Amino acid sequence: MHLKTLTLRGFKSFASATTLSFEPGVTCVVGPNGSGKSNVVDALAWVMGEQGAKTLRGGKMEDVIFAGTSGRPPLGRAEVSLTIDNADGALPIEYSEVTITRTLFRSGGSEYAINGSSCRLLDIQDLLSDSGLGREMHVIVGQGQLDQVLRATPEERRGFIEEAAGVLKHRKRKEKALRKLESMQGNLLRLGDLTAEVR
Ligand code: ATP
Repeated sequence: MHLKTLTLRGFKSFASATTLSFEPGVTCVVGPNGSGKSNVVDALAWVMGEQGAKTLRGGKMEDVIFAGTSGRPPLGRAEVSLTIDNADGALPIEYSEVTITRTLFRSGGSEYAINGSSCRLLDIQDLLSDSGLGREMHVIVGQGQLDQVLRATPEERRGFIEEAAGVLKHRKRKEKALRKLESMQGNLLRLGDLTAEVR
């Protein structure tokens, strides 16, 4: 599996549609300060479902939409598409090429799609979670983040390893199921009380 192309439209400094093609192997993005190198990495994190505006170096999510320059007015939407080569079937979907797309409108709405079909954020997170591109975004190491990894508590470090091993997804599902069971126990208790009262 490798990332093939990334297309940005109205995302941060990329007002016009811009497509970056990645070949297998190492890719370096070079350019002067402020030319948008980190914005490319932000776009990758964003299209894969990142929800934290701060992680994307903004104050609110709307900040990812092109805000305009002296010669160009702001845009009303940002859209990023990532095409992943899935010839080896690393992603659990029956397509040899998968394109995930995320769109955000300045009016507030947002959309997600897999190969052109609308989907939920959860579908994208589930699709990526066993591939090493998980929802916790440990695959993207930003400036200064290495320090965080070195200073992580043993529990946090275990979380990184669990995500890489694909265990985290099942742990989260287990936690969700346990929470449901707990609330069900509460309901059963209440039902027992009510039945006793009626008798
Ligand atoms: P450095 O080498 O200094 O780290 P960089 O190449 O990584 O720089 P970025 O941080 O990716 O640069 O890009 C910063 C530029 O993106 C700034 O000029 C900033 O004004 C512009 N920018 C960020 N968000 C938006 C936005 N929503 N609309 C328009 N331009 C934006």
